[in-house]
Order: sequence, then C-alpha cells, then structure tokens
Amino acid sequence: MISGHEIRDAVARRERSAVEVAQQALQAIDRLEPRLRAYISLLPERALSQARSVDARSRAGQDAGLLAGVPVAIKDLFCTKGDRTTCGSKILQDFRPPYSATVVERLEAAGAVVVGKTNMDEFAMGSSCENSAFFPTRNPWDEGRVPGGSSGGSASTVGAGCVPLAMGTDTGGSIREPASFCNVVGVKPTYGRVSRYGMIAFASSLDQAGPLSRDVRDAADALEVIAGFDPMDSTSVDVPVPRYADHLLEDLTGVRVGLVDDFDETIAADSGMTSLYQTAYRNIEALGATLVHVRLPHAKYGLATYYLIAPAECSSNLARYDGTRYGLRVDGGDDVYSMFERTRAEGFGPEVKRRIVLGTYALCSGYYDAYYVRAQKVRTLMKADFDLAFASCDVIACPAVSCPPFELGAKSQDPVAMYLMDYFTIPMSLAGIPAMSVPAGYVNGLPVGLQLVSPAFEEARMLGVAHAYEKATGHARRRAPQLSAR
Ligand code: GLN
Repeated sequence: MISGHEIRDAVARRERSAVEVAQQALQAIDRLEPRLRAYISLLPERALSQARSVDARSRAGQDAGLLAGVPVAIKDLFCTKGDRTTCGSKILQDFRPPYSATVVERLEAAGAVVVGKTNMDEFAMGSSCENSAFFPTRNPWDEGRVPGGSSGGSASTVGAGCVPLAMGTDTGGSIREPASFCNVVGVKPTYGRVSRYGMIAFASSLDQAGPLSRDVRDAADALEVIAGFDPMDSTSVDVPVPRYADHLLEDLTGVRVGLVDDFDETIAADSGMTSLYQTAYRNIEALGATLVHVRLPHAKYGLATYYLIAPAECSSNLARYDGTRYGLRVDGGDDVYSMFERTRAEGFGPEVKRRIVLGTYALCSGYYDAYYVRAQKVRTLMKADFDLAFASCDVIACPAVSCPPFELGAKSQDPVAMYLMDYFTIPMSLAGIPAMSVPAGYVNGLPVGLQLVSPAFEEARMLGVAHAYEKATGHARRRAPQLSAR
C-alpha cells in the first residue's frame, strides 16, 4: 500500500481510479481480517459509491479533493449516517445514527473513501483494545500482542498496510499509544481544533479526534481536512487552519526542542526503552536542533488528575444510555427503574461500569470539592507548566509509551497497570495541547513511538519536526515483518 498523498496524486492525474484503489484496500482488509480483526463493520458499498463519485469528479476535470480516492478507516465512535456505530459497546450494538460526524463529512467532501468502522475499547476506555465488547484486535507486528487502545483497530489496519489513513480519538492517549504500538504516525490535535460533533462522548473536556497514518505528510493533509471551526460543536475554536504540508521541515536548524526532566524515570525503566529515546534525541540534535531542558513539575500528578476528571465526565455522559431513547433496552421487572438497571447491567462492560462508579463517587456532594474541583486546579497548574516550558522551546520531545506492545491478556486483570500505559500522554490531554507519536525504532523487534508536543494551535511545529525526523530515520518505512512474510 502506497501513501495517501501518492494515491491522491495518481487519482487526480487519472493514472489510477479511486474504485480500483478502494477494491484493493477492501481485498487487503479481507485477507488480513481473520488474523487482525481490526473492523467492527466493513462498508464496501459506501466505499465503492464514494469512489465512483470521486472518479466522476476527476473525469469531469473538477478538483477531486485533498484526499481524493484515499481509503480511510473510521473508529467506530464517529457517527456514520445510516451505518452501524457501536462505540465498541453492546449497549449501541445496533445503533444506526441519523447523521454523520463532522469529521466524516469533511473527509468525504475532500474525496476520502470510508471503507469501514474500526474496533476500539468500549466507549474509548482502555489502552489495549481488549475492552471491546466484541473481540480484541491484534497487533500486525505480532499477532499475540495488543495493538494498543483505544483506537486499536485504526492503528492495526494502518500498521498492516491495509489503508494509508484512519481516524481515531484521544482522551488521554488513545491515538498516540496505539500509533506507537503499530509503528504509525498518530496526531492528537489541540482541544477545540477538530469538531467533536457526531463523536460519541467519553470525557467531553478531553476528547479530540485525529488521524493515524503511515507517514507525517498524510497526517498533515488529513488534519487540514478535518480541522476548523464547526458551529455544531460549542467548544470548536475559530482559528485559521494552515496548509500543514507547507510546514514540513527537512532539517531542524534553529529549532529548540525541549527534553522533560520531571517524568518518573522508573516508568520507562527498561534499558531498551531508555536507549531508544536517547538515540531519538541525538537524531533530533544531529538534524540541527538545539536541545534544551524543560520542567513539567506537575506532570507526575497527571494520572491521578485524569482518573478523577475523565470518569466524572463519563458518568455524566453515559447517563443517556438508559434504554429509553436509543440503543439496547432490556425489559422486565415492575417499573421503569428496573428497565434502566437491566439495560445498563447488560449493556455496559466491566471497565465502563468501573469508570461510572469512580466518576459518580468523585462527583458526590461532600467529595466534589475534595476530588473533582481539586483535580481541576491541578489541571490548571499543568497547563501553566507547559506555558512556561514553551517559553524556552518550540517543541517538546518525550516518550510516547513506557514499553513496546504487550501480550494479549498481560494487563487485562490489572486496571492500574493498564491506566499506567498513559503516563506520558495524559499531561498533554489535560493541558489541551497538541501532541503526536512518530515511529522511533524497535525494542526487541517491536515498534515504539516518540512523542512530540507543541503549544495550542501550533500543530504545524510538531508536524514539521516529525517530518524531518521521519525522513532522517526511516523508521516508518519498515513493514510489519510477520505480515509481509506470509
Ligand atoms: N487509556 C485511557 C483511558 O482508558 C485513555 C483512553 C483514551 O484516550 N480514550 O481512559
């Protein structure tokens, strides 16, 4: 599978038809799906009809769009009008939304071809894709390992080369961690940069949509398409969207890259991980960047803060699934309350229930000030840390993850071990600033990503640095060995 921009150029020049590209992607998916299980639903008809209209546009000499003919997989929490949207949950297993998410509409308007809806942790709660109510997805680099989560299906299908582009969402790390695990680029934009309209909510003050792709250029093009003001999302911000592709750097002369002194070293204590990241920083320096040290003194409180705010918001957002308006309904019992209870008991999986209990507790009167309000104050301190850090650097570089992809089942009985997976990604989510993961090499033959972080609405900076790093190191070009071997 070639990259999205190569497909777009070939389709625009009419050297390839979007229909043929879509058919190839669907065939690749069919071939690997029994092994990877990256999709909850495939949408061949939607894909082929969109591909036909892209071909008609380019035949008529019209601009077919920045993503003309590019096959894209969509995480199953973006509403797709008329097509099943489950959010990885039994409670929405037959839900067909009456409208499409703004992200999906913008992608299709730019000529992208939606091929299917990808697997995910239920309601995006998890770091391994094992919390899907349906089945776990597997890592293309080692089918015995997880692809990361919660956007695991999106990362797996891009990492396997079935499609060049997929959409994910990131609340505390759900784009960056699976991107790292599957050797792909994953971008979490600034909070408010991309519309959340039509995204099924987990924690509304943190959720943000973004692309997963094979290379930085494709991520830049996809972000340009999905970013921008949307009156349908009250938290969407009206800041002009640059042509990100014009900001991709070839070398880093004059760029100041901040290295963080305050992360707990024992979190990524594995010597392979430590030396991989040291090499990554040296590569950045060799490209001409100046390395500076920055402090993030409150980053170590990230997990504790996140696990108050995110569950609190989820307990409120998920109150709507009660069997009354849409989704699963389990009747029985004497009154409406027993219908609510049965529906929620049967419809939600154990992790979702755990979060609802945690969040409801944190919001109880009497505990509200001690937990929720305090967590919000720490969040403000964390944002101030980043503001200060960016006074002395342009971009921050740090680990995306603490370990390479782990084996299926290795952490599923230990929620805290699973929560720790987001140690390096949560502070940026709480601060609302953009961050991304770019392939950085291999530990024990398994992929690991480098995290790059910019100030709010400065996605162009981190994409620029990522592009120079990607070109110089070539880590993203390596293919999953097991899949190409067979
Ligand atoms: N792993 C984190 C959680 O379970 C983050 C998930 C996400 O970003 N959606 O909440």
